[in-house]
Amino acid sequence: MPTGPLDLDLLRRLPKVSLHDHLDGSVRPATLIELASQCNYDGLPTTDADELGTWFFRGADRGSLALYLEGFTHTIALLQDAEALERVAYEYAEDLAADGVVYSEVRFAPLFHTREGLGLDGVLAAVLRGLKRGKEDFRIESRVIVCALRSESAEISSRLADLTTSWLDRGVAGFDLAGEEAGHPPKDHLDAFHTIKRANGSITIHAGEGFGPESIWQALQYCGAHRIGHGTRLMEDMAIWEGKVIRLGRLARFVLDHRVPLEMCLSSNVHTGAVPDLTSHPFPHFLREGFRVTINTDNRLMSGTTMTQEYLLAHQEYGLSLSELERLAVNGINAAFHDYWERRRILHERIVPGYVAAREELAELGMEAGPSLSHGDKEA
Ligand SMILES: [Zn+2]
Repeated sequence: MPTGPLDLDLLRRLPKVSLHDHLDGSVRPATLIELASQCNYDGLPTTDADELGTWFFRGADRGSLALYLEGFTHTIALLQDAEALERVAYEYAEDLAADGVVYSEVRFAPLFHTREGLGLDGVLAAVLRGLKRGKEDFRIESRVIVCALRSESAEISSRLADLTTSWLDRGVAGFDLAGEEAGHPPKDHLDAFHTIKRANGSITIHAGEGFGPESIWQALQYCGAHRIGHGTRLMEDMAIWEGKVIRLGRLARFVLDHRVPLEMCLSSNVHTGAVPDLTSHPFPHFLREGFRVTINTDNRLMSGTTMTQEYLLAHQEYGLSLSELERLAVNGINAAFHDYWERRRILHERIVPGYVAAREELAELGMEAGPSLSHGDKEA
């Protein structure tokens, strides 16, 4: 049977799980233009949505996390009232559902949205209202991850941890630490992580993106992270020879053995300079060595991408088969900060049937899909 490239339409329809997407990095350009006009904000360089999308992308694709983050000045400035936040959360759900995403966790730093008087609780309530309406209209389950910031004080992180725990059973899935890694170790925010752990909450930490394995090690062994955002530079703890992994360091083995999920983001890692190009990205090694790796967009606006686009990159760049794409979705739902039985329901009602249908579609075209995952593999 010939193996042909999977087309964009099929990739879009495949059920996907998105665990790492920043709300303020994924606003529609057209919405930003409307919000700017409503509040007389004159900071945007154009009122043409296509041009604005390209402008954000060009600003982000400069190989530096600090430069990448510049675009957020504008999105954050325009997301300062409950109405705007509810709107972008609703549109987030609409866009992801149209992209084939069946479960998503969206993250943002509530602190950034309080400049004009909205309180932290008001910020969360507005976003959750938008996601709830999105769920009703587009059949996508979405939950929120609260981001604290490495560059802010430990006291502020603790306040955000308290905020997170008070919303844990009301749509908030977990707690994250984001921002520039170098010079801002996660262990500076230990009290916040302890607050989350004492409340039986879930933790993910951006690590191994702008800094090496030390950052991942601290996130796991000091701060108790359940997942790692990016984890790209864990490759520095493994030896690769002629395209094959020949040795894993102890940290890499820990991540593999303990099934620590890695929220990998291909395009974004190239744009921020975490890797020089897609060819050098360790993602296919992690996947094929059995790590619990997932694929994500990070910032759809800044990186000019979608989940379908990231699936296409993985398929074209690393030759991922349909079964390997299914593995990413299964890893994603198994890694989700959500109730076990809900995850099982989404897996069996949404994900598995989607890949069965895709396999049948490929068979009709005489194309090989790769071996199907066994039942045990799906629950692993
Ligand atoms: Zn991120």
